[in-house]
Formats: sequence, C-alpha cells, structure tokens
Amino acid sequence: MIELEPFNPAYYKVLDHGYVRLCESLGDDLSIVRNARVSYDAAWRAGENEGSDTRLINYLMRNNHTTPFESVVFTFDIKAPIFVVRQWHRHRIGWSYNELSGRYKELEELYYVPKAEFIGVQSEDNKQMRTLAEETLSDPKNIRQFIDDHCRDSFRVYKGLIADGCPREIARSVLPLATYTHMFTTVNFKALMHFCTLRLHEHAQWEIRQYAAAMLQLVIPIIPVASRAYLETFKPPIELSVESW
Ligand SMILES: Cc1cc2nc3c(=O)[nH]c(=O)nc-3n(C[C@H](O)[C@H](O)[C@H](O)COP(=O)(O)OP(=O)(O)OC[C@H]3O[C@@H](n4cnc5c(N)ncnc54)[C@H](O)[C@@H]3O)c2cc1C
Repeated sequence: MIELEPFNPAYYKVLDHGYVRLCESLGDDLSIVRNARVSYDAAWRAGENEGSDTRLINYLMRNNHTTPFESVVFTFDIKAPIFVVRQWHRHRIGWSYNELSGRYKELEELYYVPKAEFIGVQSEDNKQMRTLAEETLSDPKNIRQFIDDHCRDSFRVYKGLIADGCPREIARSVLPLATYTHMFTTVNFKALMHFCTLRLHEHAQWEIRQYAAAMLQLVIPIIPVASRAYLETFKPPIELSVESW
C-alpha cells in the first residue's frame, strides 16, 4: 500500500476527504512539436531550437490545431464525491475511467460536508448556481450539521442492511451523492484542456472546479510550454490554486 504524502508535489488534497494524484504520464512539450512537425515532414529539433518549439506550440493552441496535444497522456488517481464524478463522467471523449465498485466492496463511510463559507445561497440570476458572497460566508441555518447527520444516518441504514444479509449492490442505493468514490482516469492533454475550459468556468460547480485546478497544476511541470499556451489563450476564469482544506 503506497502512503500518500500531503506535500508530495504530484498530489493535491481536494475538498474534505478527496485528492488528485498524478500516477504517470506519457510525453512532454517535445512530443507535441514532434507530432506537429510531421505535417510538413520536417525534422523534429529535439531541444536545439527552443524558441521555435515554443512558437509552434503557441501557434497550434491559438489556431485550434489540437491533435498534437493528444500525444501527451496522464493517468490520475482521484477520490471525489459521487456527485462530482457524475459530472466528470459526462466527459466522454479522450477519457478512460475505472471506478471503485460498491458491488464488490462495502463502501467506506466517507462523505463530503462543505465548509460553511462554501455553502452560500441559491443564486437568483442563474438557476444552476449558488452565490458565495461576503454575507453568506457563515452557516446560520446549520446546514453542515444537517448534511452530516443525514449522511451518517444513511450509512447507518446501509451498514444495517448489509448486516441483515442485503446484497451490497442493493444496500448501496440508500447512500447519498456526497459519498466519496475512487477512480483512475487516463486522459490526453487535449481532452483535459476541454474539461478545464468547461469545469474551471465560473458556471461550473465549485467542487469540480477544485479538481480541474488540481489536475492542471499537476501537469504544468510536465508540459510547461503547452500549459502556459493554454492558460494564455483560453484564460480560465479562476486563480490557479486549489483551496487547501
Ligand atoms: C456548467 C455546466 C452545466 C451543465 N449542466 C448540465 C445539465 O444541466 N444537464 C446535463 O445533462 N448536462 C449538463 N452539463 C454537461 C454538458 O452538457 C456536457 O455533457 C459536458 O460538459 C461534457 O462536455 P462535452 O460533451 O463537450 O465533452 P465530451 O463528451 O468529452 O466531448 C468532447 C467533444 O466531442 C464532441 N462530441 C462528443 N460526443 C459527441 C456526439 N455524440 N455528437 C457530436 N459531437 C460529439 C463535441 O465536440 C464535444 O464538445 C453541464 C456542463 C457544464 C460545464
């Protein structure tokens, strides 16, 4: 069993019990230019002409010549609430997923309870969003406690059902969307950029934005030129920092 180090640079804690860990990667900035230069049958100039490699990557990004970015691939180990992973799995192209099965294994009693300052109130001008404003940063209605009590109760029922002989695949149906799940996902950089553009947007749910930011931060050291080109071209509208929990 590999113990995760909190300050391991290839690992970010996300939300109260989640994380994003970069397991492995294939390729780097040079893979992108090598793939692009086959278009005009040119030699790929390994490291000897950095300025031209950077210019090429910037050109590809600005002009949507995106297939060379598919040559860089990452595998992430993710722990996230089910409602986040449900949004994640809508991303079908360029992503592969393997997820923990509640049929094989009794699920760990681990669920997401938002911090008071990230609960906010229902937005009045956007039906899908919440508003996090200065005056909503506390939790006067004790929503955290309600969520915690309800999740704990759900797990009590879940465990009771299993103890009574109920099959795991049926018992799990009483668990809340806040329950943490675990997945491995493999994605190429083009698909990751698309995900980040949609899921770093201020209209995306705050929780999934944290995971998008963590993945982007983890790939920056591997493809610094392409990541900078992405950030400068698409300007994802949040600070690139993961909320520390
Ligand atoms: C803020 C926000 C709110 C959302 N709200 C909802 C909601 O209320 N309900 C809901 O159901 N979903 C919702 N979604 C999910 C959204 O509709 C997309 O399913 C999700 O963002 C994945 O995007 P995608 O299809 O571009 O990505 P991918 O599935 O990775 O596809 C990548 C690209 O491939 C192409 N492609 C993929 N499949 C097809 C296809 N079948 N036909 C043609 N082209 C294809 C498209 O160009 C697509 O952009 C929301 C997403 C966001 C970011």
